[in-house]
Amino acid sequence: MDGYALRASDTPGQLRIVGEVVAGAGPLPGVSAGEAVRITTGAPLPPGADTVVPLEDAHESRGIVTVAPSSPGAFVRLPGSDTPAGTVVCLAHALSPAAIAVLASFGLVRVGVRRRPRVAILSTGDELVEPGGELRPGQIYDSNAPALAAAISQAGGEPVTLARASDSRSGVEAAMQAGAGCDLILTSGGVSVGQHDHVREVLESAGGLDFWRIAVQPGKPLAVGEYQGVTVIGLPGNPVSALVTFELFARPLIRATLGLLGDGRLRVRARPEEPIAKDKARRAFLRVSVWREAGETLARSTGGQGSAQLRPLAEANALLVVPEGEEAADPNRSYEAIILGELA
Ligand code: AMP
Ligand code: MG
Repeated sequence: MDGYALRASDTPGQLRIVGEVVAGAGPLPGVSAGEAVRITTGAPLPPGADTVVPLEDAHESRGIVTVAPSSPGAFVRLPGSDTPAGTVVCLAHALSPAAIAVLASFGLVRVGVRRRPRVAILSTGDELVEPGGELRPGQIYDSNAPALAAAISQAGGEPVTLARASDSRSGVEAAMQAGAGCDLILTSGGVSVGQHDHVREVLESAGGLDFWRIAVQPGKPLAVGEYQGVTVIGLPGNPVSALVTFELFARPLIRATLGLLGDGRLRVRARPEEPIAKDKARRAFLRVSVWREAGETLARSTGGQGSAQLRPLAEANALLVVPEGEEAADPNRSYEAIILGELA
């Protein structure tokens, strides 16, 4: 504090000012009984003083300061009071702004970290065009690649966008080959049962299909396997399915390679305001907006729940998890909500 450095045993009282010490300054005046030194915030405590009385609690006139009662150590920061000797300064977190401040406060400019995993993004589909290009009849923009790049970065990975693969076995194989130097390959599309869906076939013949198809809505045709020793997550092509299954399968995996636990998402219980229909056979991850009202956490569908309906996903701040066996989210009970964004 800006004020006076002195001895607590001299307070309250009238003390003689014998010097001044400012933040960052050199030699320190000593403080004896009956004496005080003007001091600024951030300055070292002069020898002999044991407390600081703030300006607000003092009155100075003609070299004499009248101070209010104080106790030893008031407004004094001791060395090691934030981090006592023997404490681990910073351990295995994502380096938050505060963690970076801690490291910097120790003068540390280089620390051991994990390398971000390189995650290849491979869109499949003859109908896809790079956003910004011109669309011919029958074509659509590839929205999965930029969405996945952002999701990978957010999860702590380094996105590597590969050239789009044509809907042919050789096209998918060549693209997969291009991703084999990465730590993880994410494909999108071409993983269903159609004649032109080749991702699963390529994984199978490379000897590494672990599982295919999950009872999740959206995202049924997910495939997980391995290509030349690299884990491959074959995400569905439908844009909502691709992002939701990324959230459920790829995000925790990327984080695990960084030593981070789980998906890092906050979960709350939320009650749907109205029923939201779903497929009874599958566990649904419904796009909802979650907010607090009158001591309760409520959820409302942000729009159509179809796997191609992207905008409701962009407007959602949570996924409401409704178990298999239920036909709709029931307003008479609450469900787990995975918080993806800021509270509405
Ligand atoms: P698929 O799994 O390849 O049959 O694709 C399912 C649906 O998602 C189709 O309507 C595709 O056109 C669409 N789709 C596939 N990949 C993408 C993508 N990268 N961006 C936008 N839509 C896609
Ligand atoms: Mg396709």
